[in-house]
Amino acid sequence: MTRSTGYRLLVGTTLLFFALTGVTGCKTYFGTGDPVPVKSSPPTVYTGGPILTMEGNSPESVEALATEDGRIVATGKLYEVLAAIGPRPDWVDLQGATLLPGFIDSHLHFGVQAQLAAFDVVEPWRFEDADAFLAHIADLARDRPKGEWIITFGFDRVLVPPFRNLTRDDLDRATKDHPVLVLYLGLHWASANTRALEIAGIDRDTPTNIPGGGIFFKDEAGDPTGLLTESAVFTLIEHLPENGPPGSTDAHRAVAQQMSAAGITTFAERATGASGGLAELDLLYDLAHDPSFPQRIVATPLYQLLPELEGPTPWDGFYQARQVKLLIDASLVGGTSATLEPQVDGSRGALNYPHNEYRRALREAAAKGFATATHTMGDRGHRVMLDVFEELKSEVMDEARFGRHSIEHSALVHPDDIPRMARLGLSVSQLSPMLPVHGDALSEHLYGPERTSRVYDANAMLRAGINLALHSDAPVFAPRPLTYVSAATTRETTSGVVRGPDARISRFQALRGITLGAATHLSLEDELGSLTPGKRADLVILEKNPLEVDTKDIRGIRVLRTIMDGVVYFDRIGQP
Ligand SMILES: [Zn+2]
Repeated sequence: MTRSTGYRLLVGTTLLFFALTGVTGCKTYFGTGDPVPVKSSPPTVYTGGPILTMEGNSPESVEALATEDGRIVATGKLYEVLAAIGPRPDWVDLQGATLLPGFIDSHLHFGVQAQLAAFDVVEPWRFEDADAFLAHIADLARDRPKGEWIITFGFDRVLVPPFRNLTRDDLDRATKDHPVLVLYLGLHWASANTRALEIAGIDRDTPTNIPGGGIFFKDEAGDPTGLLTESAVFTLIEHLPENGPPGSTDAHRAVAQQMSAAGITTFAERATGASGGLAELDLLYDLAHDPSFPQRIVATPLYQLLPELEGPTPWDGFYQARQVKLLIDASLVGGTSATLEPQVDGSRGALNYPHNEYRRALREAAAKGFATATHTMGDRGHRVMLDVFEELKSEVMDEARFGRHSIEHSALVHPDDIPRMARLGLSVSQLSPMLPVHGDALSEHLYGPERTSRVYDANAMLRAGINLALHSDAPVFAPRPLTYVSAATTRETTSGVVRGPDARISRFQALRGITLGAATHLSLEDELGSLTPGKRADLVILEKNPLEVDTKDIRGIRVLRTIMDGVVYFDRIGQP
């Protein structure tokens, strides 16, 4: 039974925790494998270090916090907290470590992360040029039997000279004997060699454009060049041997455990169905309700699945699916984000949903009771989105009924449109870790320095009163929330340039983006995101206080313990 892996991991960390600290009374799952109801969580007091509640508009630290039965029951002075809970509570002395609400990653792709475990994951900036990358593929081919797939993730044309997409001819030079699929960072683009195209049945008779914004690019003779974008990428992924119907696999468990080790207690999967159709919704539902699984899950089925969905799944404490996911434009880094002004190469990107189609999609979603989460990168994408929301405001925007609508990524916004976003009450989640890695390339190859200085302008959002969350878009960037905080507070690129100093936000504001701001983005602020009595006992203990270390050290702060519903799911205390 695949469930046992995660279970054993928990038992392992628990035993280690007991052996090394001697603390007793800490609850997690033992021996029998039976689910332990949340209600058994004993009263526990945390004290002895900064306890950052993340309430209010400035940092606030309390002396003590108590949890019981999976909820936070009191915060404040130690005597107040002790008066509020049951007798003989368990005691956690923080010994100077910092307690925060459990981290929330408001946008990632869990199923794809698990699939990538079987792929060759590369860091594009390590390759001197495209030839070096192709030599890497030739090396992989030498090590494996002919006919076996080579799937690599992370190549990125704007980071690897000569800054162009790869064709089937390029990849055929590396190997003709193995099917090769090169998934670009961001998953909006891919390149396949001839063998891979043959297996997927892609030839000159395949339509060039397919639903969902997909393109199989063709050469002048009408043959596929091997370059694919958007839904065409997923057509190829469907032919990969690992891509059977998704079940709970060791890879899913391993990804969840890594996220727990980074302090994540809730994540939003933001293209549910992309790696398994409706079965992926079932998988996430089952995982979220499995007591050994370390996160709560917000699922976001793709809009394309709407005809097959009965309606939204309201929050039940561990799971919800209340929004459908749309992609109004495509990739900032791939140059396909829809922009108002031309990009450096003269193009203006492309819209997947022009005005009328986006309007129809919003109405269809609302008719079934869903709010929307729209992937929007460029300023033209934002413009269309806002025009449509203004038209349909009374019809589709009813927070009590639908929850919030959201803008996902929201990279480049025209300054005139920021107040419109605020007026509409749209929430924004930014892919902040992108800027340090891609900022130089965005400036040079795509948007120029002025627009790049406004990419992921977190400060402009907060100044306008817009709710802000930060995310990884994993597997695009690793799901380690303190790196999003670091990126949004420094905006320093790999070359050492600060791109858009005015767009930086404070550490406290950035920490809000992975706690209360993220909870609000998901319409879960009554349950999650701050250390407030009545909310869920989701906590993270950090070795150091992120408000006090050097800015450059924030990303490296170690997570010591991650707790969900009062249960320890990850523990490093006492380990080197
Ligand atoms: Zn995404």
